[in-house]
Amino acid sequence: MYKQIHKYAEIEFRERSTYAMKEVITPITQTLFYFTDDEFRESKMEETRDILVFGRACDINAMKIQDQIYLENGDEEDPFYLRRREKVKFALMECQEQFDGCFCCSVGSNITDNYSVAVSFGEGGAYVEVKDEAFGDFFSGYGESDYEITFPMENALKVDFPVIENLDMANRLKAHPMWDEFDARCIACGACTVACSTCTCFETTDITYTQNGKVGERRRTCSSCMVDGFDQVAGGACFRKKISEKYRYKILHKVYGHDARFRTGPMCVGCGRCSARCPQLIGYPETLNKLSGAIEEIRQKEASHA
Ligand code: SF4
Ligand code: SF4
Repeated sequence: MYKQIHKYAEIEFRERSTYAMKEVITPITQTLFYFTDDEFRESKMEETRDILVFGRACDINAMKIQDQIYLENGDEEDPFYLRRREKVKFALMECQEQFDGCFCCSVGSNITDNYSVAVSFGEGGAYVEVKDEAFGDFFSGYGESDYEITFPMENALKVDFPVIENLDMANRLKAHPMWDEFDARCIACGACTVACSTCTCFETTDITYTQNGKVGERRRTCSSCMVDGFDQVAGGACFRKKISEKYRYKILHKVYGHDARFRTGPMCVGCGRCSARCPQLIGYPETLNKLSGAIEEIRQKEASHA
């Protein structure tokens, strides 16, 4: 997990973190503001110092997607995200080995220059590349090296990431039978989305301290399009009742919906956390490959009718 460290030895560099870097900036739960019946007060930031977050190239690239959703999705920036995001700088961790299920190279998230320092870990110490002058003094007493940080250029797992060219194709894919199997396989636990580097779904809840409901706090809590109740609207109606409909929504949002909104490619950095967390052993790359097959099938049907 991501948590505060106090010395070099506490950095875990041999494993992929279970949860994504996003939890530093958007905690699992946070109070946004406190209210009474006639006024409200914004919550204070618990952490007032700057935050240096260690992550890999895919993790840092995932923050671009988080920024789009919280800061560029409409006229208003999310102030609660922004106040924390502004304090964050990145320390790139070199990928000296790859983890099961990584496919960053298939989605182009294997390289980044968005870091203040880059670190190549070794048993006896570390090579550190300092890009941001603010960090120069910390390393001034150490020797120089011409070692260059490397990036993964090929993964063992290769994914043919699907491209859905327009809304018409997305709607045809919605009606494809490929989703049906997930009614039996997926249990809608949401583990894949909570661990995902790029998912941002949350719920807001008013917690009242008094019976009249006029004094309390509003909390934002991490949630998931996969869990029951997430899509419930006033009156109790739900738009995606079946698990296959929730799963389909999640996948099509990552492949098509986000790109249709921002025109920057998939909402996925290939970190592999979703598949690693799934208790039902549902492989996200396997779903993507099926989706590519379904797209091909629809195109071929169209061509044969032309
Ligand atoms: S969908 Fe899976 S592979 Fe893609 S960013 Fe989310 S957790 Fe990583
Ligand atoms: S982790 Fe697996 S079982 Fe749980 S919601 Fe995601 S795909 Fe379904």
